[in-house]
Amino acid sequence: MINSSLKQLSTALAAKQVSSVELTQAYLDRIDALNPHINAYITLDPAKSLAQAQAADAKIAAGEAQPLTGIPLAQKDIFCANGWRTTCGSKMLETFIAPYDAHVISQFDAVGAVNLGKTNMDEFAMGSSNETSYFGGVKNPWDTTRVPGGSSGGSAAAVAARLCAAATGTDTGGSIRQPASLCGFTGLKPTYGLVSRFGMIAFASSLDQAGPMAKSAEDCAMMLNVMAGFDSRDSTSVQREKEDYTRGLAAMQADKPLQGLRIGLPKEYFADGLNAEVAKVIETAIAQYQALGAQIVEISLPNNNLSIPVYYVLAPAEASSNLSRYDGVRYGHRAADYTDLLDMYMKSRAEGFGAEVKRRILIGTYVLSAGYYDAYYLKAQQIRRLIAQDFTEAFKHCDVIMGPAAPSTAFKVGEKTNDPVAMYLEDLYTIAVNLAGLPGMSIPAGFVHTTEGKALPVGLQIIGNYFDEARMLNVGHAYQQVTDWHTRMPEGI
Ligand code: GLN
Repeated sequence: MINSSLKQLSTALAAKQVSSVELTQAYLDRIDALNPHINAYITLDPAKSLAQAQAADAKIAAGEAQPLTGIPLAQKDIFCANGWRTTCGSKMLETFIAPYDAHVISQFDAVGAVNLGKTNMDEFAMGSSNETSYFGGVKNPWDTTRVPGGSSGGSAAAVAARLCAAATGTDTGGSIRQPASLCGFTGLKPTYGLVSRFGMIAFASSLDQAGPMAKSAEDCAMMLNVMAGFDSRDSTSVQREKEDYTRGLAAMQADKPLQGLRIGLPKEYFADGLNAEVAKVIETAIAQYQALGAQIVEISLPNNNLSIPVYYVLAPAEASSNLSRYDGVRYGHRAADYTDLLDMYMKSRAEGFGAEVKRRILIGTYVLSAGYYDAYYLKAQQIRRLIAQDFTEAFKHCDVIMGPAAPSTAFKVGEKTNDPVAMYLEDLYTIAVNLAGLPGMSIPAGFVHTTEGKALPVGLQIIGNYFDEARMLNVGHAYQQVTDWHTRMPEGI
């Protein structure tokens, strides 16, 4: 059961082979046994989850089931969920109980999915290893001496260890795709504006986007069907007709189902910085795509090397503004002892935020200050435009772009904690996609074996044109019809 697809679970629930209460309880038992070793969940509330499961069972009995009714999902702790503690991985929100639902949460509620719990994450989604979480690091289920990636590390480990049927994540610079690569599952960051950010705690608003983290492209498509859609409460939510992202997935019997598909390979992605063994896995996957009928085109993204410096001006700038709301006055941590208002602000923020968050607030405040704004912030915005134009040019010659999702496999806990720049390089292949607002996904493409005999997953990244998620999911699905990387589970789990 734990390795079943969402479709299989949905069929089993409809056929009454299992009830949502039984399924939810089975996951809760598994979480009880394994979470102490992995630390994927920050908050569990079995009574709430089981009540939702009961309601789902009633819905199923009444013949009102939808595809995800009764299915237990893990929610990244960045989404406000009414009545649930919502921490964003920070001491600042350690005791914050959300008084309303994020759009993503209410969409899943509306179809009767079950919220299994809130997953661990880097503090305010800042990080690539989940080590900046106030609630402690998350262990990679493939090798517990290694990180799961970040910032959606808890959701990533929960999906990999089968501690949920699927999960949500958010991706500002790579936080769905990089952990998907390091933990061996399928994760999709949609086009900016496709999924409402309402109730999703803000990090860098012009980059943040929520998406599904699941076992397969098909599961991601089913999740995206629920998550995507216009929401007037998010001013950047795009008004467009609802799509069925599962359309086209079933009809893939042809011998060469991807005949005519043009895959762009950016030469900049296969250069310095890419681990040689990861490169081999990616090349094998591309060859498989050729066998499926796709055609390879070499493309160039000449400004890709500027994406990390640009991101580390713009994301901190937006974060410094977004995080100014945590002042100890209205909600969040307030220092116990202070002399006056200013002292209260300073102590509350000094105590409530961790080191990485403070670093970003300092950088962001600096690049936005008078005298530096033009030199840093404005310049970065101009380069952001050039980076987006690189993609527009590339998509004249190809339908999707492929490459690695991360430069290496999962690294050891503590290996990069004292070297922020090494940590920032984790997102070398993902950040430009956020800067351009494009959709990107990572699918499992193979393994690299460590000297200790551990198998570490490698993700293939598929980047699509704006709102081309349906095609990307088809491209991922076609590969998953002829390979079984996405069905592999970590040993001993
Ligand atoms: N690793 C990047 C950062 O630390 C991206 C994080 C994210 O996508 N939320 O900012």
